Amino acid sequence: MRKDVRILLVGEPKVGKTSLIMSLVSEEFPKVVPYRAEEITIPADVTPERVPTHIVDYSEAEQTDEQLFQEISKANVICIVYSVNSKTSIEKVTSHWIPLITENTDKDSRVPLILVGNKSDLVEHSSMETILPIMNRYSEIETCVECSAKNLKNISELFYYAQKAVLHPTGPLYCPERRDMKSLCVKALTRIFKVSDLDNDGILNDNELNFFQRTCFNTPLESQALEDVKNVVRKNLSDGVCDNGLTLTGFLFLHTLFIQRGRHETTWTVLRRFGYDDDLELNQDYLFPPLKLPPDCTTELNHNAYLFLQSIFDKHDKDRDCALSPEETRDLFDVFPYMPWGPDVNNTVCTNDQGWITYQGYLSQWTLTTYLDVQRCLEYLGYLGYSIIAEHESQASGITVTRDKKIDLQKKQTQRSVFRCNVFGDIGSGKSGFLQAFLGRNHMRQKTIREEHRSYYAISTTYVYGQEKYLLLHEVFPDFDSLSEADLACDIVCLFYDVSNPYSFEYCATVFKQYFMDSKVPCMMIAAKSDLPEIKQMYGCSPLEFCRRHKMPPPQSFTCNTAAAPSRDIYTKLTTMAMYPHARLRCMCTCNRCAFCLCQNFLNSELLQTVRAKLYAVVLRRSFLPFFNRLSASHQPHDRSSSPPQLVAFIPLISFIFLESSLFNCLPLFYRHVRQADLKSSTFWLRASAGATVCAMLGFAMYRVLLKPR
Ligand code: GDP
Ligand code: MG
Repeated sequence: MRKDVRILLVGEPKVGKTSLIMSLVSEEFPKVVPYRAEEITIPADVTPERVPTHIVDYSEAEQTDEQLFQEISKANVICIVYSVNSKTSIEKVTSHWIPLITENTDKDSRVPLILVGNKSDLVEHSSMETILPIMNRYSEIETCVECSAKNLKNISELFYYAQKAVLHPTGPLYCPERRDMKSLCVKALTRIFKVSDLDNDGILNDNELNFFQRTCFNTPLESQALEDVKNVVRKNLSDGVCDNGLTLTGFLFLHTLFIQRGRHETTWTVLRRFGYDDDLELNQDYLFPPLKLPPDCTTELNHNAYLFLQSIFDKHDKDRDCALSPEETRDLFDVFPYMPWGPDVNNTVCTNDQGWITYQGYLSQWTLTTYLDVQRCLEYLGYLGYSIIAEHESQASGITVTRDKKIDLQKKQTQRSVFRCNVFGDIGSGKSGFLQAFLGRNHMRQKTIREEHRSYYAISTTYVYGQEKYLLLHEVFPDFDSLSEADLACDIVCLFYDVSNPYSFEYCATVFKQYFMDSKVPCMMIAAKSDLPEIKQMYGCSPLEFCRRHKMPPPQSFTCNTAAAPSRDIYTKLTTMAMYPHARLRCMCTCNRCAFCLCQNFLNSELLQTVRAKLYAVVLRRSFLPFFNRLSASHQPHDRSSSPPQLVAFIPLISFIFLESSLFNCLPLFYRHVRQADLKSSTFWLRASAGATVCAMLGFAMYRVLLKPR
């Protein structure tokens, strides 16, 4: 909204400009007036539109032309005053004042004009007959009014119209010659209608109208008022009301009616609520709300945003096939000023057999945009009316900024749900096939993709220990002399070589040595095209040896030349490595069924985390606090009766925490060991039972210490 309004009065000498201002201020007609009134400021709370208003007078006798030009360029609205009993003063409106104002104002910033006929007390007839043709000729004339400074007739109205001309101008909304709404206004109101039509049936039913009314005007519409509105539309239009709801035609008609009846403020309130500025463009502040983005953090959509996007999908998936047909996609983006998704999106996310983006693919694409370009995501959510429909302050409330990755690494835990994997490999090593295979497409299906529709990103979900995560694959352009920061910053690196091409491994080795040997990012070597016969790589050592030397998992075989959709195991492994980069000894299995996976699930389970956190808290409360209390009060004699159990509690609990955390870290090792050992061997079972006894004893000791004092 505007900060203030500046009204300038111009016109021939003696038409009564100064008298009008003084009559407004003192509420009586001044007998004697100076040439020019001082500039006055009316405080916001006494003006009808609650905006501070400055009123500026002009006097030819006291001011130079230069000063007049300056005032004209500063004004938000100009009142051209004439005297109704003076023909010359009326003629001067068109012969002098309007051209002078046009010359001295910016062509782009249109200043509204108001024609003011003063001294109406002196004549019987109205000057309107002469004035109306002038109004029709100049579209910048917002309105005209006849008044009398002497009788105080229409004085406050005059200043109210002036204020309104600035705050709710007719110009951008309506074309008086055609007696119709302007096309930009129709476009904006059409978007508003579509956003408000929550079930996308082309009709605003009573619920939707009430929601609309509440969002725009903070009050619901009484049911009688709702009927009255519909009746007005019914009376004037045959297709304005359908199934007892308002159609788009009816909605537009209603707004035309508001404007024609001088109630522009109603239409403007609606437009502004939906983010439009005075030029009927969406406001930058609305599209790009502030969002703080510290370095090393990523951006993800949160629950609010996913819920909203889900409702948008449901609204447009008219045939309920859980995919967006090209027509449905166009309809979904109809509220955008341009089509945001090109054909490459269909090769970035999962699609159905017809190649249409599925629900899962749709959410993935939103996740990708949020991750790669959060400003764009805010803009898109703005077009969809997120803040209005989901009733949030701005689109920023749909975004989670993750914590600094360094903290994740320190705490060995992450709350992120999107992980980025950058894929490196020489030309033709099979990177694109790997990206497409993630979307469930085998070699045959990939051949149908047109070159100009290919994508360097692929995103979909994987399940890591029961949790759904997004894995974002990015194919890096092989010319590694021109790598950008984004090419190097990721959660996991994939190095690709073609088993059938003896010269392809060298690229992987060079990239690894140049960029990732000393970085903390985990790397995975992929032996691609594993369906082809393997040829020895022309490099100093074999890929397996290379991986062993650099403490990487052994090369993983991969092929997309399969009959069905390629296996997803490798993607789960990559996500797991991206989530737990610190876990060096890793069982590469993520089947969710074997003992390793079950243990991991258990250790990562919320229940265990809560128990752990509670235990830590109890230890602190029971052992450390009294200990410190006593330290601070060491001059007092020890209370021998209470100290021993707490000290006793301290030791086994600390040892338990130590044991538990080391167990967590050693588990992969333990598991490997168990796999190799003969499970039937008696020594193994002996050792296992001894371990179990120790654990049980420790647990029992803890239980006694903790519960006995109660
Ligand atoms: P300005 O030069 O445009 O500022 O005009 P002034 O305010 O100085 O007024 C010029 C003369 O017109 C003064 O004698 C006023 O008393 C008189 N006048 C101003 N407004 C009215 C009005 O509404 N009715 C009548 N009868 N006289 C007016
Ligand atoms: Mg004057």
